[in-house]
Amino acid sequence: MGLTAGSVGRNACDSSFTIQKNDGDFVIALAGNPNVGKSTVFNALTGMKQHTGNWTGKTVQNAQGRCVRGENSYVMVDIPGTYSLLAHSAEEVVARDFICFGGTDAVIVVCDASCLERNLNLVLQTIEITEHTLVCVNLLDEAEKKKISVDLDVLSKRLGVPVCGASARSGIGIEEMMELLPEAMKNPPSSKPCIAYPNEIEIAIDMLTPVLKKKLDGRLPLRWTAVRLLDRDEQLNSSISDHLGFDIDSDKEISAALNRALKYLAEQEIDSSKLNDMIVTSIIRLAERYASECTTFEKSDYYERDRRIDRVLTHKIWGVPIMAAMLLVIFWITIEGANYPSDLLFGALFSLGDKLSDLMVSAGSPEWLRSMLIDGMYRVLAWVTSVMLPPMAIFFPMFTILEDVGYLPRVAFNLDRYFKKANACGKQALTMAMGFGCNAAGVTGCRIIDSPRERLIAMLTNNFVPCNGRFPTLIAVITMFMTAGAAGLGGSFLSVLILTLVIILGVFLTFLMSRLLSATVLKGVPSSFALELPPYRRPQIGKVIVRSIFDRTIFVLGRAVAVAAPAGLVIWLLGNITVDGSSLLTICADFLDPFARFIGLDGVILLAFILGFPANEIVVPIMLMVYMGTEKITNYESLSALKQLLTDNGWTIITAVCTIIFMLCHFPCSTTCMTIKKETGSLKWTAAAFLLPFVTGIVLCAVVANVMRLFGVLF
Ligand code: GDP
Repeated sequence: MGLTAGSVGRNACDSSFTIQKNDGDFVIALAGNPNVGKSTVFNALTGMKQHTGNWTGKTVQNAQGRCVRGENSYVMVDIPGTYSLLAHSAEEVVARDFICFGGTDAVIVVCDASCLERNLNLVLQTIEITEHTLVCVNLLDEAEKKKISVDLDVLSKRLGVPVCGASARSGIGIEEMMELLPEAMKNPPSSKPCIAYPNEIEIAIDMLTPVLKKKLDGRLPLRWTAVRLLDRDEQLNSSISDHLGFDIDSDKEISAALNRALKYLAEQEIDSSKLNDMIVTSIIRLAERYASECTTFEKSDYYERDRRIDRVLTHKIWGVPIMAAMLLVIFWITIEGANYPSDLLFGALFSLGDKLSDLMVSAGSPEWLRSMLIDGMYRVLAWVTSVMLPPMAIFFPMFTILEDVGYLPRVAFNLDRYFKKANACGKQALTMAMGFGCNAAGVTGCRIIDSPRERLIAMLTNNFVPCNGRFPTLIAVITMFMTAGAAGLGGSFLSVLILTLVIILGVFLTFLMSRLLSATVLKGVPSSFALELPPYRRPQIGKVIVRSIFDRTIFVLGRAVAVAAPAGLVIWLLGNITVDGSSLLTICADFLDPFARFIGLDGVILLAFILGFPANEIVVPIMLMVYMGTEKITNYESLSALKQLLTDNGWTIITAVCTIIFMLCHFPCSTTCMTIKKETGSLKWTAAAFLLPFVTGIVLCAVVANVMRLFGVLF
């Protein structure tokens, strides 16, 4: 049975990790460059659904799962993808610390067969740390198409560790890999590749190793530790102190030896940056040599295909309009496709509700109980299901297909110059896209941004794109209030256009707020970074549909139902506890009403947003429960029934517009706030992330409502 994904999820910079293992379990780390299929291997082994996607940097935290082969039981740990273990970035620290201190019995390094040289760089660094390494050369199917072949035997001989080939997506090679694993765990390699450093560095290493041998007592590889100390890897010192309880900085003997070695290097005119270059070059040279010895290329036009597609999709002028058009098409399919199943579900669930109600009456249930369970909770849940499920079940598979094809990094590429203009990082486009699924995931994803300043900007502005929980509500309000007059295709096209504009407003606000932050509290210039454009890959449509329905749709719906049901109870209680003849709910809503009306909402809507802090999914259910205190939904057509209920409660076009704006910009949900607190470690920044969209939303709503009133827009 698998353990919960992400149960070892933790801050990228925090260096403690918990492995949930039983006695006798072997701990296996899955390492690799980003986007080489690590998570695919992990999922194939553990049966779990760790997020996979065709872009660099989506795994930013460890996830663990269990798998059994023969007598052996393994805890597999999917660690963040990295190009190196020299710990320059947060992911490298997480990956490196886990390999060094996570108590692994072996490390499987997953490689991309098409660019072995770059992947071997990580393999060599891993082998320097642990002899118990297994190399899995993945993506062999893709390499074959590019007419690249890899001689696995030669590679294994050069590296001195077991090597297997795989096409993980089709499950090929996974079992062979598991058969080789015991060999990697037991046998120290026959001819460990020793990265040969220039003579001066070798002499400096020799000056350090005797004292390290005495002090570290086999807890870390000597040669590797010596090189890291010479390279002044401060992060390693603090990790050693955290995990081994040994403060290397204050050890006199080590410090003396290190100073002698550094003095010697200085005499050889090797300063720290030159030393770092020499270390990196030595590793790359060896990787280059091994890759050329075991790889053969034939001329292929495979890359030409990708370049041709990129010339269109990342075109300087057409790139962004194509992106907007694609968004438009996706929304159109979502809205058009969701109508019919939505009405069908609504009808079915509501007639079931009537039957349940009759059943309760005939079973002699008291009226208050029947009313609370059926008229209150059940009907609201039925509404949530019928309005939220169909659009999510259509939108998310399409979004995931774009992700699987490799389009997301192209989005980042297209938006890079706009983020640069806002003095932010182009990778923020990726975290923004992740926010469409879940803002908490988007915030965690910000770890792919190296500069702390830009990472903070990305976290603070992530909430300006609507997540799963807010999306269907936006669609519903737009369809009910803005396009109801326009029938048929014209109506749905208008809805799509408005929805696209709302999303573009969200993106625009992201740029604006990023610019504002970088001009004020988070001053700085944008950093440059290399954005990898992965090859276009054929998406696995079947898997994508199943995965996005189960991972995202059912999850969100489950959350809505799980939170809405108890919330229903609370609301019911609040609605039934009275003070001086008025229910608590009415008192709160009345209290908020004057301010809420000033910003175009009403007291109930604002109260629903406040009570919906645990999850955005329940804002509308709460609103309905309160409104339904006086009225019930009886019509069997979901959206018109709903519109009736809302207009009966005083909704106008102004209320609808302001609710849409407030849905787009209000405080992040509690999960996102907690994630921001965890990632930033700061209450101040969490408060900033809470207030930034909230205040923006209030200001926008106030302006829009009052301008609309001024012009007499009231239907
Ligand atoms: P990770 O970043 O290393 O965890 O990589 P993922 O497991 O998310 O995979 C990256 C992309 O490569 C996804 O789109 C996968 O579907 C795809 N992929 C993984 N393994 C293979 C494979 O063996 N062949 C092909 N063609 N694609 C693969």
